Amino acid sequence: MTDDAAATPTCLARPLPGPDDGGAGCAAARGVDGRPLHAAALKFFWGPMDCGKSTMALQMNYNHARQGRRGLVTTRIDRSLGPQVTTRIGLAHTAVEVTDELDLRALVRDTWAEGVRIDYLICDEASFYDVAHVEQMAELVDGYDVDVYAFGLATDFRSCLFPAARRLFELADEVARIQVEVLCWCGREGLLNARVVAGRVVREGAQVVIGDTVDTADVRYQVLCRRHYRSGDLGPRA
Ligand SMILES: [Zn+2]
Repeated sequence: MTDDAAATPTCLARPLPGPDDGGAGCAAARGVDGRPLHAAALKFFWGPMDCGKSTMALQMNYNHARQGRRGLVTTRIDRSLGPQVTTRIGLAHTAVEVTDELDLRALVRDTWAEGVRIDYLICDEASFYDVAHVEQMAELVDGYDVDVYAFGLATDFRSCLFPAARRLFELADEVARIQVEVLCWCGREGLLNARVVAGRVVREGAQVVIGDTVDTADVRYQVLCRRHYRSGDLGPRA
């Protein structure tokens, strides 16, 4: 993906905070590293499990890096349970694990302090972040001119919005449903993430329980259309 916004620098009307901000304002519409500011954006890409969110996140990271931009990849509770983004089709990338204590703004500032300009963040599994992290994403866009691309589920196994996803819907400059369709067993478009325990759809419990979408896990998830999510019908495989 090319960044068309890079061609239209805008003034942020206040100095960028940064490691070497010597009080230079934005009269010339330039960041602390002397580069022209552009219109950074917060974008949220959402879809059900298995729709290729992490694959798209890594593809976007690759595309931006190829243009000479510097970014960081963050994640929380990746299916690999390690500090990396993994995808079901086999891609992997090291990532910063987002903990309760992590401040995304400090993460960017600290990286800048090491002499590495960060142009963008790729925030995978963003639905599992805290609402405070979403506020930090917005501030990175507005105050630091850093693009933030968040990827995640919209709703949990009860079909209710995750708090961080709700905040992303409220704050993002752009929200896009990922267009890789996941089908319910009936052939309809998959929309909702059912949690399955002992072969039955469950509708109560903790909002986040690690499982997978393979049939062998104790707790697994299955993407269903709304009709079969509501009826709890897992189809002929169940
Ligand atoms: Zn269905």
